[in-house]
Amino acid sequence: MKEARFFQKGEAQEVQCGLCPHHCRLSEGKTGVCRVRKNIRGTLYALTYGKVTSIALDPVREKNPCTTSTLVGTSSLWGAWAATSGARFARTGIFPR
Ligand code: SF4
Repeated sequence: MKEARFFQKGEAQEVQCGLCPHHCRLSEGKTGVCRVRKNIRGTLYALTYGKVTSIALDPVREKNPCTTSTLVGTSSLWGAWAATSGARFARTGIFPR
């Protein structure tokens, strides 16, 4: 658990998260729509920070009309638990060979 970024403190230990379009306004002890950000004593915390639930690595190939294809790197997909619209948060990146 880590203190979250992108939130504002309000009155009476209320916070407003600005990370995604839901803009959840949370009173003390409540979690957002995603269920992974929680207001604890007027501060928003990311409950799943650093917890990865899945990793996938896929080869990235460049098509070339003269040859078949060339491996140019590896794509990675990282997922973590969250419940925004039923989808999980994910981050992608391409890493050269
Ligand atoms: S759904 Fe989660 S990330 Fe989005 S605004 Fe609400 S608390 Fe923040």
